[in-house]
Amino acid sequence: MPHLITLIPGDGIGPEVADAACRVVEATGVEVVWDVEEAGAAVLEREGTPLPDRVIEAIRESRTALKGPITTPVGTGFRSVNVALRQELDLFAAVRPTATLPGIPSRYEGVDLVVVRENTEDLYAGIEFERGSREIAELCRELQHLGRPEIPSDAGVTVKPISVSGTQRIVRFAFDFARRNRRRLVTLGHKANIMRHSDGVFLYTAGGEAQFSPDVAFDAVQVDELALRLVTDPREFDVLLLPNLYGDIVSDLCAGLVGGLGVVPGANIGWEYAVFEPVHGSAPDIAGKGLANPVAMILSSAMMLAHLGEHEAAGRVRAAVAEVLGGGEVRTGDLGGSAGTADMAAAIVAAVRRSG
Ligand code: NAD
Repeated sequence: MPHLITLIPGDGIGPEVADAACRVVEATGVEVVWDVEEAGAAVLEREGTPLPDRVIEAIRESRTALKGPITTPVGTGFRSVNVALRQELDLFAAVRPTATLPGIPSRYEGVDLVVVRENTEDLYAGIEFERGSREIAELCRELQHLGRPEIPSDAGVTVKPISVSGTQRIVRFAFDFARRNRRRLVTLGHKANIMRHSDGVFLYTAGGEAQFSPDVAFDAVQVDELALRLVTDPREFDVLLLPNLYGDIVSDLCAGLVGGLGVVPGANIGWEYAVFEPVHGSAPDIAGKGLANPVAMILSSAMMLAHLGEHEAAGRVRAAVAEVLGGGEVRTGDLGGSAGTADMAAAIVAAVRRSG
């Protein structure tokens, strides 16, 4: 039976890197039926919503999606499609492996980290109060009533919920992931000294859960110190467990440690569905020019193949990427080369075919 996969090309560089990834998956010989679904800016113009219900329904049917990045316009009335998708499908865990790749110049050799980011709570929960709105006036009155510090009348507010149940499942996921992938240490990042009742819940719940996983070491570090230690020597870390916002920021920082956003893949995983997408965004500065590095998207498709049980094909895709990068002849601009997206994709497709 072929695998039914929902393909969301996205916008900006999304369609370019998605096309590259599809060609690489097809080169493995794994049988795939792509159900292509549009989401993002173009759909918003046509249909008044950037995420039509049919996209969610399509993923509920296929259970697996490969997704290109989607632009989130800053400061408009529309929520991020990416955040909405993760919440609608309860994709509570983002998994972002960050490892040194052959032939990619970077400050450190031997980096091998995985960021596990909680994906549904925290400041990304979508509980926002618009500056000057009736709701925020009510909120201010309620806070005054509760004896809390006054909010300036010209402030906007975003609420940061972090629950015990939401933390328990991401912590269990992180330890389970560590165990299955023979990893030795889970390091949690927090700011519980300042945000005692949100990051505090994350820290203390995780500490309690960690006791049930004595085979994997557990450590907790304030996230600002974590940032310093990551750029000082990332090799001391293994699995990083982070609430939503810190996970977003630290993922990009980690990408910078191994050659940039063009090479770091990702997966959003829940109990029922999984959506695979690179860490990078839609890169409007290079969109439509054929310059984007497709490696992050191609490695995301390798994660997808492994998730579907196609481990041999996933291994061949990873090996092909390593071969092409290690060869050093075909490289996109972000890696210091002059190749385009299509050149890189063709070289990886050829390497996958040779390994078959
Ligand atoms: P970005 O990741 O799109 O780009 C940051 C920088 O990295 C840019 O200079 C870009 O050219 C470069 N870059 C990114 N991917 C690259 C690739 N594959 N090859 C070569 N260079 C690459 O981040 P941004 O500019 O902050 O965000 C642009 C848009 O993407 C925003 O609307 C943002 O909300 C959205 N975004 C979407 C997702 C997603 O769909 N999951 C993730 C992050 C950002």
